[in-house]
Amino acid sequence: MVTVTTVDTLQEAAAGVGREAVYLGGGTLVMRGVNYGDQQISEIVRLRSQDSLRVIRSEGDRIVLGAAATMGDVLRSSDCAALHVVARQVGGPAVRNMATVGGNIFAPHPYGDFAVALLALDARLRMSDGSDLDLETLLAARGSERRLIESVSIMRPAGDDFRFRKVSRVKPKGVSLMSLAAWLPRRAGRIAGARIAYGAMAPTPVRIKAVEAALEGVSLDANSISGAIAAAAQGLNPPDDPLASGWYRTQVAPVHLKRLLLGEGGR
Ligand SMILES: Cc1cc2nc3c(=O)[nH]c(=O)nc-3n(C[C@H](O)[C@H](O)[C@H](O)COP(=O)(O)OP(=O)(O)OC[C@H]3O[C@@H](n4cnc5c(N)ncnc54)[C@H](O)[C@@H]3O)c2cc1C
Repeated sequence: MVTVTTVDTLQEAAAGVGREAVYLGGGTLVMRGVNYGDQQISEIVRLRSQDSLRVIRSEGDRIVLGAAATMGDVLRSSDCAALHVVARQVGGPAVRNMATVGGNIFAPHPYGDFAVALLALDARLRMSDGSDLDLETLLAARGSERRLIESVSIMRPAGDDFRFRKVSRVKPKGVSLMSLAAWLPRRAGRIAGARIAYGAMAPTPVRIKAVEAALEGVSLDANSISGAIAAAAQGLNPPDDPLASGWYRTQVAPVHLKRLLLGEGGR
């Protein structure tokens, strides 16, 4: 039997999660778990209304997304235009109307496509206790975090500074064999401070710092990015799953990174 507790504030919900309850975001994964008889879910805590956590707003050179904003909300937001390419590739329309930004950050392999984009865009999280945490730190400790996410602040990419690719075997709704996101700010035509993130290549979305380092100061052409391509799978030990082996993922990572950086075959 599953007990459901309804509360008014995120702080009350976080207190419930501290007592082993599972927080319900959009429920696309939690409710699937309940329906499949997942014995680890015996208590759910939910908010009476998530409306205040669905707001998406501009804040200087950043965009702040409420943790309960859905992929549908992102697609309706002109502030989030650069992220439409990502939100469009999360599940089908029914999933996108429920799947939240916060839930995507906790979605297990091979899910988490949106979180890959957030990671590339320097996501900083406002937590339920009012503290701030960067997404990379949370992902490294995922599973032990008891606080809830209130909102996510990301860089607003300019022009074609942001790129995303989802590689899957079934289109348009397949899960990721690999997803890649790049934020490529440039100074005088050369990359300055790139952030590159992969999904489905590790238990959580990860930044690929060897690639970021190899891109520093180069221009985006086939010759200049050769060092980055050579580092595409450096230090990674991707999981095996029914879609692909870890070995295969390692072999194709350079191909997809090159396409991403050169803007080949869609963003
Ligand atoms: C048919 C189907 C297709 C899918 N396709 C994709 C896909 O293509 N790409 C993809 O990335 N995902 C996919 N998913 C997975 C999932 O729908 C998304 O990852 C979604 O964003 C999860 O969000 P949610 O709000 O539904 O999470 P929930 O099911 O509500 O929660 C998932 C986890 O996140 C935690 N959580 C939720 N909100 C917060 C918060 N604010 N703070 C802290 N913890 C929180 C919950 O406690 C739970 O542990 C798919 C799922 C299904 C069922």
